[in-house]
Amino acid sequence: MNDGFEVTPYKVTGDIDYDELVDRFGTKRIDEALVKRLEKHGPLHPMIRRGIFYSHRDLDWILDQYENGPGFTLYTGRGPSGPIHIGHTMPWMFTKYLQDTFKVKLWFQLTDDEKFMFYDHLSLEDAKSWGYDNALDIIALGFDPKLTNIFLDTEYIKTMYPMAIKAAKKINFSTIRAVFGFDNSNNIGSIFFTSIQTVPCFLESMQQGRNVPCLIPCGIDQDPHFRVTRDIAGGLGYHKPALIHAKLMPSLTGSEKMSTSTAMNDTIFMTDDEKTVKKKVMNAFTGGRVSVEEQRKNGGDPEVCSVYQYNLYHFEPDDSKLAELHASCRSGKILCGECKALLFEKVWKFLETHQAAREKAKDRLDEFFVRD
Ligand code: SF4
Repeated sequence: MNDGFEVTPYKVTGDIDYDELVDRFGTKRIDEALVKRLEKHGPLHPMIRRGIFYSHRDLDWILDQYENGPGFTLYTGRGPSGPIHIGHTMPWMFTKYLQDTFKVKLWFQLTDDEKFMFYDHLSLEDAKSWGYDNALDIIALGFDPKLTNIFLDTEYIKTMYPMAIKAAKKINFSTIRAVFGFDNSNNIGSIFFTSIQTVPCFLESMQQGRNVPCLIPCGIDQDPHFRVTRDIAGGLGYHKPALIHAKLMPSLTGSEKMSTSTAMNDTIFMTDDEKTVKKKVMNAFTGGRVSVEEQRKNGGDPEVCSVYQYNLYHFEPDDSKLAELHASCRSGKILCGECKALLFEKVWKFLETHQAAREKAKDRLDEFFVRD
């Protein structure tokens, strides 16, 4: 079923109706009561206040577990096939907020095996090398090294493999085909991969020798992987992993999801230099009018504007300033040139700091990596 848009871990097309996606995937909206419960544990992240993290599976149960003693662990990941862009870092910054707020362990999986199996052009060596490159950006975001384990699947497989085959035995090909839309042309590695993706949900439990609940912050496009995991977790003797889902950060062209592979000029990479970032921001798709006169008279449309969306998702954490920008745009008080210049300053300030931390991360890999 498509209804004008399609969202799977491997394909996002069309204009996503996020509300409908909750019904289609069978997840739950994060309601006011749940927001209030989160707030009891610390200041809310802007992505919660603004409904960017908007959907979940069993987040209320995770809070029960935290409040009543057993606690929980975090799991997120990255498929290393190229450089990191700002859209990738969004759920990770939220993950850091969860780690800082709840002081919990994070398992960060780098799926070099997955990317090798899914991308014809990518060698396993290159996927692994991207994994180490991407880890620099992950570390630079400021995760606590005492509470963070980063691993490449191919370097941690001895630990994971016994659990992966236990999981694989419980998953039929018909399930995988239905969930991911695979057909007979998919290689058998890609069919097996979901069982590898299942294991990190249980790594903390395996390490501690007790059943530790797991929360996965991710883009909602990744939900199908964990639906399969949730179905088999009980049979493996573990809790179902809980999830908290984000909307996908739009690209500078205004389309739904930034992509590494298809839009090198429409996304901002963490290693872009100042000139490149400026060019990308100044060329961004906006909700502006065709002429200055018309914009002064009728105002712009922030809802369709990628510059506004960048502020909403990440670059304007102050709600009152964001509301001011929205109103100034609507009234025609601010014009797009000025607005883009302001965004560029914020983006570059963030990237300058990030790139310095990224450089230092080159000497810090061993503080974070776990290997067999
Ligand atoms: Fe977008 Fe700013 Fe132009 Fe409004 S003024 S349409 S927010 S760039």
